Amino acid sequence: MKLPGMHTGFRDDGTWRNWAGNQVAHPVRVERPRSEAEVVGLVQAAVAEGRRVRVVGAGHSFSAIAVTDEVLVTLDDFASVVSLDRDSGLARVEAGMRLFNLNPLLDVAGLAMPNLGDIAYQSVAGAISTSTHGTGLGFQSIAAGVVGLRMVTADGSVLVCDEQTNPEVLQVARVGLGALGIVTEVTLQCVPSFNLRACEEVMDIDELLNNFDEYAENTDHTEFFWMPHTKNALLKRNTRTQEEPPPPRNRRHAARRKWKHFKNKELLENVAFGAMNHLGRLRPSLVPKFNAMMVPDEGSANYLTTSYEVFASPRRVHFYEMEYAVAREHGIEAFRQVQALIDTLDHPVSFPLEVRVLGADDIALSTASGRDTMYIAVHMFHGTDYEQYFRGVEAIMNQFEGRPHWGKLHYQTAETLATRYPGWGEFQALRSRLDPSGMFTNEEITKVLGPVG
Ligand SMILES: Cc1cc2nc3c(=O)[nH]c(=O)nc-3n(C[C@H](O)[C@H](O)[C@H](O)COP(=O)(O)OP(=O)(O)OC[C@H]3O[C@@H](n4cnc5c(N)ncnc54)[C@H](O)[C@@H]3O)c2cc1C
Repeated sequence: MKLPGMHTGFRDDGTWRNWAGNQVAHPVRVERPRSEAEVVGLVQAAVAEGRRVRVVGAGHSFSAIAVTDEVLVTLDDFASVVSLDRDSGLARVEAGMRLFNLNPLLDVAGLAMPNLGDIAYQSVAGAISTSTHGTGLGFQSIAAGVVGLRMVTADGSVLVCDEQTNPEVLQVARVGLGALGIVTEVTLQCVPSFNLRACEEVMDIDELLNNFDEYAENTDHTEFFWMPHTKNALLKRNTRTQEEPPPPRNRRHAARRKWKHFKNKELLENVAFGAMNHLGRLRPSLVPKFNAMMVPDEGSANYLTTSYEVFASPRRVHFYEMEYAVAREHGIEAFRQVQALIDTLDHPVSFPLEVRVLGADDIALSTASGRDTMYIAVHMFHGTDYEQYFRGVEAIMNQFEGRPHWGKLHYQTAETLATRYPGWGEFQALRSRLDPSGMFTNEEITKVLGPVG
């Protein structure tokens, strides 16, 4: 099912662009398989031609991770639910399924994803491949909830992995960066559906930083946004509950509630924010004033609704992003250093910084592998120069053995990354085994993982 605003990235001239518009591919051809057998066929054809293959999900990565000038595969036509089992909570889905299509279907079946990121535009396979995450110390990345995968590997065979069959492959391949094979099916361990009580409150950033550990430990899902050049931050705390949202009294009341939601989310977070960013790009000196208008000195909001509607929101203002994962205990110090960096930049920053937390997992290339993690994300409005800012942030994160989000912008290489993941060697061994010829490699993969073997 296609929804308005759904990004595919394919143009009539044969090129492909990511959501942010900063990555372009000129593939020799685009393959649109409708079944696993067709995926096998296209891999065998590429092997025969000596061509390399890359899959693209929803194109929501900022880095060049999905880009290729060889064969580009989209699974947009291979994107249905295979089965949902309410009792076990298992959802088997074809790999191209978008999260925004999956969430309402799970809800109808009385199920939900345990945690989600800020948006739900991603495909299931794309989200897990880069270690996409939300927030919450008691929760893990989306990939950590994967209990089964089917993958077409470089020899054109189908590899099944779950807790009984090839469990050692499943363990690693959940965050595969698209470098191990083409994921055709994903089995997700879901939870009974739940609602979230959302509490959003503007706070002084220093007070927030002093108390952040306590907030993160005491609430299921805690995050904050800080507006550069101001003292103001928006703290978001979401608590899981089975309590139901109040029923709408009548149709008019329901329409008003919908409008209020639209007004808050669309007008404030997207329309007004977009307009201010356009103006700020023309007149940078106005940015601090606009930032203060976006997060005023005080204000709060409380609401209760279905989990996925609280976790994910529309994002219509396009931007570039870098996000780093550091061990949780270093997070606040790293954040304070980024605050100090912003004061030294040549250009003001018109986008908030976002801070989230996550529990450790044991996936080789997960950004939260082996450590409770704090994520610090920095953004720049599209069309704006981000180099000085992002390089400065990266230098700070290097001091803390920071791990960049695989789908976001960074300047690391295999050399700098190898020591930052306990499971690096394990991943490389599996890659050599499944893709000895580098069939699923592109420039970005060679940069961040090095050559195969
Ligand atoms: C507005 C916005 C908000 C975001 N919010 C968050 C957030 O809250 N949290 C977070 O962690 N990230 C976030 N991201 C980043 C995003 O979640 C990741 O970049 C994610 O990987 C994008 O999924 P996708 O389906 O678009 O995959 P793509 O970007 O298309 O591809 C990503 C990788 O997955 C691989 N891949 C895709 N399908 C397959 C397959 N079938 N088999 C093998 N490999 C495959 C590709 O080859 C590529 O390596 C955000 C991005 C944007 C643009």
